[in-house]
Amino acid sequence: MRTHQIAAIPGDGIGKEVVAAGLRVLDASARRDGNFQAAITEFPWGSDFYKQHGHLMPDDGIEHLKRFDAIYFGAVGAPDVPDHLTLWGLRLAICQPFDQYANVRPTRILPGIESPLRGVTAKDLDWVIVRENSEGEYAGQGGRSHRGLPEEIATEVSIFTRVGVTRIMRFAFELAQSRPRKLLTVVTKSNAQRHGMVLWDEIAKDVAAEFPDVTWDKMLVDAMTVRMTLNPASLDTIVATNLHADILSDLAAALAGSIGIAPTANLNPERQYPSMFEPIHGSAFDITGKGIANPVGTFWSAVMMLEHLGETAAAARLMRAIERVTADPSLHTPDLRGSATTDMVTEAVCAAILGDN
Ligand code: ATP
Ligand code: MG
Repeated sequence: MRTHQIAAIPGDGIGKEVVAAGLRVLDASARRDGNFQAAITEFPWGSDFYKQHGHLMPDDGIEHLKRFDAIYFGAVGAPDVPDHLTLWGLRLAICQPFDQYANVRPTRILPGIESPLRGVTAKDLDWVIVRENSEGEYAGQGGRSHRGLPEEIATEVSIFTRVGVTRIMRFAFELAQSRPRKLLTVVTKSNAQRHGMVLWDEIAKDVAAEFPDVTWDKMLVDAMTVRMTLNPASLDTIVATNLHADILSDLAAALAGSIGIAPTANLNPERQYPSMFEPIHGSAFDITGKGIANPVGTFWSAVMMLEHLGETAAAARLMRAIERVTADPSLHTPDLRGSATTDMVTEAVCAAILGDN
């Protein structure tokens, strides 16, 4: 029997609801599989912890997490705590020391789910977005002077390093190469941003030479939003900076049906440190406590976690179970214009796992 040590950090708002649901689905996956167990340790970190202790996780939080094989994360953010505090105090405070520089976001239209784009079906939209997750526009560099005065200035400096851009580019080319179409689109804004984005373009060209079997092209991020909307079938694997991919992946999730469906893996590809798996959505306080959060993005991120842990059979089984459930409109939550609850979807996915042969 293999044992995987998993740290669960439900966080805030619907994060708590969807991670609770995700743990049930993981448990069902392990029971059905019979060859591994998921040993879960929960950490109550997030905005409530902040209100009690003045920080979102303990100072030695990273030390606690080091020994785990993976981290299963919900969402962080609360209406009464500034967003930049929660993001930097927990999510980035984990991603950065664990060097989870590759953020992978698969997007496709699952069975039974409709794209808001007329006539666009599963065969037209099957993407993986690779987001640079360690530097770029979210490097946290900059400052403010003359606070509150008319002459106030704030700077927000993007950092692009040759090491950082090369490793994400190589990761993206490898991922594109592993997919049937071997197609990569590199997104930049190198017409307007003439330093970091030009470096990004140059490195893309260099790395492309190592992958002659991958067809690749370049897009400016503004034109990319148009192409995603009007010609989704022309895209497969996409790589973009921290900021650009953050925005593009929300668009991608919406085009595939709902932000509630989309998963993310924050990977440390060298496996020196644990990787972290989470839905792309946030804590969504507008629907917290109503029992209607869509847990599918959190389930799909468990699929990615199981793959990462080497449990490929269990991962495939969980994905089949998710697709069987999304195919049934009576099991759609309100974000998909249905009336199902989180609990109904979770029950159904567990039943599909246990009934899968
Ligand atoms: P954050 O500030 O952490 O990003 P948020 O409150 O802005 O959190 P988002 O995840 O950005 O929430 O989602 C925007 C809206 O989409 C939410 O307010 C909610 O109505 C809806 N939404 C997000 N996730 C889900 C989900 N899993 N199920 C149903 N609706 C969702
Ligand atoms: Mg948000």
